Amino acid sequence: MTATPAWPLNSLPRLFIDDHLSLDNSYHIETQAAHYLTRVMRRNIGDSIKVFDDRSGEYLAEIIDISKRHCSIKIIEKLRAREEVPDLWLCAAPIKRDRWAMMAEKACELGISAFVPIHTQRTIIDKIKGDKLRHHMIEAAEQCERNALPTMQPLQKLKPFLEAFPENRRLYFCDERGGDNFHSILEQNQGPAAILIGPEGGFTDEENALIHAHPAAQGVSLGPRILRAETAAIAAISAWMSHQGDW
Ligand code: SAH
Repeated sequence: MTATPAWPLNSLPRLFIDDHLSLDNSYHIETQAAHYLTRVMRRNIGDSIKVFDDRSGEYLAEIIDISKRHCSIKIIEKLRAREEVPDLWLCAAPIKRDRWAMMAEKACELGISAFVPIHTQRTIIDKIKGDKLRHHMIEAAEQCERNALPTMQPLQKLKPFLEAFPENRRLYFCDERGGDNFHSILEQNQGPAAILIGPEGGFTDEENALIHAHPAAQGVSLGPRILRAETAAIAAISAWMSHQGDW
């Protein structure tokens, strides 16, 4: 008989644990999460939480030891397997820190399978903090109840990204200068996809031509207004998800 949590299951705190979780085993939760459980969520020994590992799935766990700095839990019951995630990549040029963090958070909530930072000629950011971006996506996953995290690719330049782009994937290039009607494109094209978003300054003419020359690329319009990059990412992902995703 599993322990009946005092709180309804859907209101329990959810934490990502970067380890392979399995039934009846115990795990040590790192300090930041321990602080969240004790100080923010006021949980104590005997309380239940939900944990997921982005490997085997999601579990009900019981807090077996807790203090200001650390917490140990024991896995009580498997709740669900690691979920299938719609096969949509977000490929975007890094933008200013807060907006970039927001783009990663929203893309994770909306259900992308991978985040691919692309360095373009007008990208103002030269390097990105991958671990910070992963942290934003972990927090978004904990909140939105994903139990599979988006994969994080390293920052790559546009040309090699296009050269290595996989055969069986559509590349929807969000082109603020034109592009075709996204709705009708999505009506005609199914399957794995990637959305490409430029930096605040947009793509250069040379980049625009390079992208259009790629056999998998299709210029899409996100309407008559010029959207900020993070808005364009949210809009494009939402359009794809409502057509071919899991909404
Ligand atoms: N160069 C623009 C800003 C680029 S916006 C300017 O005039 O300031 C950043 C990115 O968002 C663009 O590169 C494009 O990928 C996407 N985007 C913005 N508005 C769009 C639209 N209406 N249709 C398609 N993509 C758009």
